[in-house]
Amino acid sequence: MEEYQTNRYNAAAVTLSKKLTRRNFLPVICQNLADAKEKALAWIEQDKIVGFGGSITVEAMGIIPDLYARGQKMIDRERTTTPEERYQVMREALTADYFLTSLNGITEDGELVNVDSVGNRVAALTFGPNQVLAFVSMKKVYGNLETTMEMVRRQTAPLNAWRLNLQQTPCIKKGLCGDCLQAECICNTLTITRRSMVKDRIVIFLIVENVGL
Ligand code: SF4
Repeated sequence: MEEYQTNRYNAAAVTLSKKLTRRNFLPVICQNLADAKEKALAWIEQDKIVGFGGSITVEAMGIIPDLYARGQKMIDRERTTTPEERYQVMREALTADYFLTSLNGITEDGELVNVDSVGNRVAALTFGPNQVLAFVSMKKVYGNLETTMEMVRRQTAPLNAWRLNLQQTPCIKKGLCGDCLQAECICNTLTITRRSMVKDRIVIFLIVENVGL
């Protein structure tokens, strides 16, 4: 990333942090994925249970292998063998001490916008785990609520559909979201988290690097 872009993102992250704090979120500014991983690993108490949702950013950070390596107790749907077991583990992850996830979009005023398929990720963000560690690149700060929802639906969701190798949806056949209601649809729940009831329950790692979709 160019230096001027890094500088702009850093300035915007400081501004956004103040707005997130007003909404009872706890912002942590990180320069890159490695910085975010280091801070998150230091944050997570080693005797607690960690769950996580599907996320390119969390995967790219490489934090899951590190947590395993230090003996952290994990609730991991990727280690299941049947759809039933996977679903059960996703339910169990809602009782974890910490839940790791990413965010699809964030407004300049600090609202969190997500689109989810099964809904386990937004469920955990809303209620369940004692603390949610949410990782988001500053490139996902899109503007006002309307723009952010539009970007999440028109840009992030179709990219996810291609990543997940869907077959029949309009975003695959035409390359654009068709607001579908198909069996394959991954856009089943669209959420706006405008404030946390419990102060500092949702820790938002603002990453000054272009990562994620
Ligand atoms: S076409 Fe359907 S699956 Fe694809 S982005 Fe739109 S709502 Fe989501």
